[in-house]
Amino acid sequence: MSDVIQLLPDHVANQIAAGEVVQRPASVVKELMENAIDAEAQTIKLIVKDAGKTLIQVIDDGNGMSPTDARLSFERHATSKIRSAEDLFQLHTKGFRGEALASIAAIAHVELKTKQIGDEVGTALVIEGSEISSQEVVVTPKGTSVSVKNLFFNIPARRNFLKSNSVELRHIIDEFHRVAMAHPGLSFSMYHNGSESFNLPVSNYRQRIVNIFGSKTNEKLVPVTEETEVVNISGFVGKPEFAKKTRGEQYFFVNHRFIKSPYLNHAIGAAFEGLLKQGTHPSYFLYLEVDPQTIDINIHPTKTEIKFDDEHTIYALLRSAVKHSLGQFNIAPVLDFDQ
Ligand code: ADP
Ligand code: MG
Repeated sequence: MSDVIQLLPDHVANQIAAGEVVQRPASVVKELMENAIDAEAQTIKLIVKDAGKTLIQVIDDGNGMSPTDARLSFERHATSKIRSAEDLFQLHTKGFRGEALASIAAIAHVELKTKQIGDEVGTALVIEGSEISSQEVVVTPKGTSVSVKNLFFNIPARRNFLKSNSVELRHIIDEFHRVAMAHPGLSFSMYHNGSESFNLPVSNYRQRIVNIFGSKTNEKLVPVTEETEVVNISGFVGKPEFAKKTRGEQYFFVNHRFIKSPYLNHAIGAAFEGLLKQGTHPSYFLYLEVDPQTIDINIHPTKTEIKFDDEHTIYALLRSAVKHSLGQFNIAPVLDFDQ
């Protein structure tokens, strides 16, 4: 008889977890921006070089970390956001898995600077290969800066699998937009290779969408509002005459989190029935607020899919809210001469 099972060393376990959490530079952008939001930042700055392949840095003015927390934040399953399994159904933060920083540090070089309000000085850490290689006391503003360099330096297959800079940058911008659209009350900026790509001041939902997609968007938006026991729906749908052949701007947010849902997308399609030219897709920016107890976010590591307790009711409410808004704006059906 011989025993063959061993517990994997932490750095190996982290690298395995990273495979799920970090698919490309945009995944790092998402995780770091969400951490900044959870830290109650008001201003979030994203700096990328070479479409994130050489540098992704997020600087926030949030709560910062103590020196001990700064070290702990890179351990797997280390989180300040939940304490018990019950908390999973009361989530008010983006994060809860305590995996992102540990995963990122397993596949990139990471530098952290952080300071809590009221502290004279902050902490600077350098993490290489999951190990803290230096820790210093630094003068730094309140908040946190995380720099992620040379992503996938130790996983050549992943690094080679990355797409061209323009494709990877597109993914980063999409992620930046999603987070910014979900939080119009915060200000965001983004810089790529030294030049400013976006500067989004504090505003409201409509103005944030217009700032991102251009001033022409304003006239295309039809407001949607519906408040029920199960869900509060707000946001906008694009007028049918602006529907495009490509699936363009289609956004669902649930409790300020961007999610993908073919099922709810279908509800919007149903609300637009008879109003669209064949082969075109409506745009929508819809914000759903539900009791955190009625959803499960923990079904995928990247949290872009969620499970509703009662998705049929949400489908029906969404369809009728959108239909109602389109009706109120007196939108006549289009005659489709191509048919
Ligand atoms: P999670 O967000 O799921 O808790 P992370 O690995 O992303 O896991 O972060 C681990 C912990 O590090 C967080 O719970 C938080 O306490 C701390 N942290 C991470 N980023 C920041 C930040 N920008 N500002 C303050 N604290 C942070
Ligand atoms: Mg996180």
